[in-house]
Amino acid sequence: MAYNFEHLLADSARVHGHLCPGQVLGVRMSILGLTKIGIDDPRGRQRKDLIVYVEIDRCATDAISSVTGCTLGHRTLKYVDYGKMAATFLNLKTNYALRIVALEEARQIAKNRFPHIEDQMQAQCEAYKVMADEELFSWTEVSVGIRQDDMPGRPLRRVVCSRCGEHVQDGRECMDDGSIFCVACCKGAYYTVI
Ligand SMILES: [Zn+2]
Ligand SMILES: [Zn+2]
Repeated sequence: MAYNFEHLLADSARVHGHLCPGQVLGVRMSILGLTKIGIDDPRGRQRKDLIVYVEIDRCATDAISSVTGCTLGHRTLKYVDYGKMAATFLNLKTNYALRIVALEEARQIAKNRFPHIEDQMQAQCEAYKVMADEELFSWTEVSVGIRQDDMPGRPLRRVVCSRCGEHVQDGRECMDDGSIFCVACCKGAYYTVI
């Protein structure tokens, strides 16, 4: 099955809510990544063979999720908060993984590609559609050691925090002085109870 770029872009723009350069970039990155790791049917036959790590939570992330079918809820999309426009595509069957980074230079090339298009965003979109993979991205083979606790499927463990009493799944607890704590109680939470 070959990837239909226009269909995938239309789908991702619909899911994301608008068409933007991030959608074009995310769809292009996904097609490149999936093809290189030997996945041609990510939403069907091979839906259990794939994990994607995204390193940023911006527009392109939605496109990557839309094309690959990988989601947080299925544990097939892993969000790693690096603030980088990059993603790693891992084939669980072969253990082959490719990390792809969007090139900073691509922005400048895109700006100059269609000078007659006045709308900057539209010009960028059109340029990202036609630029070569090598102009948009760099990529490298990587090895990803995925923990059993991070795999899709039923949770392996479920424990209770000894301070707040809330349940913690998937090995996310911390041990301190022989007691089990949740991350919030152990390392501090992102919220403050008022
Ligand atoms: Zn967007
Ligand atoms: Zn707790």
